[in-house]
Amino acid sequence: MTGPDAIIRRPSRRVWVGHVPVGGGAPVVVQSMTNTDTADVEATVRQVYELWQAGSELVRVTVNTEAAARAVPVIRERLDALGCNVPLVGDFHFNGHRLLAAVPECGQALAKLRINPGNVGRGSKRDEQFAQLIEFACRHDKPVRIGVNWGSLDQELLARMMDENARSPHPHEAEVVMRHAVVASALESAARAEELGLPGDRIILSCKMSGVQDLIAVYRDLAARCDYPLHLGLTEAGMGSKGIVASTAALAVLLQEGIGDTIRVSLTPQPGEPRTLEVQVAQEILQVMGIRAFAPMVTACPGCGRTTSTFFQELALSIQTWLRTQMPQWRDRYPGVENLRVAVMGCVVNGPGESRHANVGISLPGTGEVPVAPVYVDGVKTVTLKGERIAEEFQAIVQDYVERTYGGAGG
Ligand code: SF4
Repeated sequence: MTGPDAIIRRPSRRVWVGHVPVGGGAPVVVQSMTNTDTADVEATVRQVYELWQAGSELVRVTVNTEAAARAVPVIRERLDALGCNVPLVGDFHFNGHRLLAAVPECGQALAKLRINPGNVGRGSKRDEQFAQLIEFACRHDKPVRIGVNWGSLDQELLARMMDENARSPHPHEAEVVMRHAVVASALESAARAEELGLPGDRIILSCKMSGVQDLIAVYRDLAARCDYPLHLGLTEAGMGSKGIVASTAALAVLLQEGIGDTIRVSLTPQPGEPRTLEVQVAQEILQVMGIRAFAPMVTACPGCGRTTSTFFQELALSIQTWLRTQMPQWRDRYPGVENLRVAVMGCVVNGPGESRHANVGISLPGTGEVPVAPVYVDGVKTVTLKGERIAEEFQAIVQDYVERTYGGAGG
């Protein structure tokens, strides 16, 4: 069996982040994070808006200075004025307790606080500052993500667990103890937050690691030991294909096991690459696994010696790009259009077969074939395109299909 029927989601509590449900059987939520200076209101509003337009359902912003904290309510207002209701999540490290006390409007404008227990404070200050953050969340009815990151793991906790391990008659490898410490940090912090009065249905946990096998091991452990919703992400995944592959490898294993209520793909953008790529990749992971659909997908063959031109590659790319750019308007106008399947194939070998399986498919001519391109709509050959305008004509056929098939309910 394939698709979501094969996946049994791990039961978890439901946490509301603004109007977005996380866990408790809700669809897996896609989130992202800005890389602008939050104090720069214009730049941050622009990027949050772009991430939201790309489909991010929650957007996290760093809140690291008083200027950033003061900017948050202004950013919220500007987004609301633009009709962008995406919940904002504040990322706090080191000084969150002070910033929220100095600028409570910042916390009020946020839909969730992200707290890293390893970066709340040191020594005796840690408990006090953690309590201040949790008390703020309690007072203002805000959910909290307790987000452990192995790069900033609570060193006192790690040292304590390493000592205990050293005294054990059967000590584990240091790496295993570190994984246990990551999970313990999340669970102990969650228990402490509940003791301080934060309801269990306002807590989301994450334990981000940068190694694929570490991440899988840690989340399996975490999933078995609590029923808080879990935010998944491979931290510091990296750039380009490495970042995408590593994130996909880790997240796919966990999602297939029903683990994960919200995801983020932490890519390092290459120069000139849009920040929205992380949203696209997260959506594509969920979509190719059959968990959620976000935008029509194009099936294209890789091409081979039977294709002498790059025309079919260009057509596949232009159709995929065009479909994606239509989605912000199509989402409301054509409900269900995200399930549309389009095929662009390079020759007669697999072209007609694959095209017939798509909603709309085109089989382009390979080397030595008659220069015509049959088009299939819901498995039936409807027209044969030829000449210079194949790309435009095929796009018009797809547009017509979308209007006829998905236009009824939305008008
Ligand atoms: S469909 Fe044709 S062009 Fe595409 S990979 Fe297969 S044989 Fe090659």
